[in-house]
Formats: sequence, structure tokens, C-alpha cells
Amino acid sequence: MRKLLLKSLVQGPLTEPAPPADESALAELAARVSRASWRRLGRTLSIRAVDAGSCNGCELEIHALNNVLYDLERFGLRFVASPRHADVLLVTGPVTANMREALERTYQATPEPKWVVAVGHCARDGGVFAGSYACVGGVSAVLPVDLHIPGCPPSPSALLAGLLALLESVSKPP
Ligand code: SF4
Repeated sequence: MRKLLLKSLVQGPLTEPAPPADESALAELAARVSRASWRRLGRTLSIRAVDAGSCNGCELEIHALNNVLYDLERFGLRFVASPRHADVLLVTGPVTANMREALERTYQATPEPKWVVAVGHCARDGGVFAGSYACVGGVSAVLPVDLHIPGCPPSPSALLAGLLALLESVSKPP
């Protein structure tokens, strides 16, 4: 035991250092999402994240958008607690049988115009959980999906690029 303790003191951490973040590219991407949101909606974008049954890997990347590194709110994009305040539903995971009704109700509670973004491989077709008795499939099995962001899980940059693609593809409401 003592040997092990000494070894852990002498030896440095075994984890690899995190790759350097390309802050300028990220800031540019987030600013473009913000500008596109103002152009299409006349205001900032409000996002409601919905976990329909994921392993939480996709949530960790979504939460990272709010950490000190990505700090999405500095560009005016924000996560909201209620679907009644949301423009976009960011749905992760395969849709489980237990979450199906909650997801449908969340969609019904979201005001128009609204968009559904399926996040991660599981949200597309069930991913590694496809075929499970507990899952009804991907998000499109329950809701109309406007965009799918692939990845297992997708990175915060991929999430931002997806939101930008969504905003650039939708037409301005009358
Ligand atoms: S796509 Fe990957 S990280 Fe996301 S819920 Fe599925 S298994 Fe988890």
C-alpha cells in the first residue's frame, strides 16, 4: 500500500492533457448563431434540452455549452427551464417508452415557431439502444424532426454548427 502511495505521489497524472480549445473559431460560430437568430426571430434563441432516455453522454456536451470555456450566454443564446419559453427542443437519446408521453407533452407546450433538433446517434434511430423493449426508436418516431446532429456524443462545436445550420435553413416567420 505504501509503495502504491509513493508511486502515485512521484508519478504524474496518467490522463492526457485536454486538446487546446480553438476559442476564436468557437466565438465566431456562437456569434453567427446569435446573428442568425436575430435575423430569423428578431431576438435571441431559447433552447430547451430534453433527455428522452440517453446515457447522459450527450447531456454532458450540451452542459459544456454553458461552462466557463464555451459560455454560450455571452452570445445571448440561453437554455430555458420551460418549453413554453423555448424556440428549439434539443432532444437526446433514444425515446424510451417511459419518456414518450413527456416528450409529446413538451412539444405541445412549446409555442410556434418551434423546431426539434435530435442530438446524437441514439436520437436518430435508437443507436446502441435500438431494438430494446424499453425504446420506441429515434426522436422522429414521436415528433417531426427538423435537424439531426450526429455524434456519440456530438461536441459543443458540432452542436453550435447544427444550431447555425438550423437557423440558416428556416425562413423568417411573417
Ligand atoms: S449518442 Fe452516444 S452519448 Fe448520446 S445518448 Fe447515445 S450512446 Fe449516449
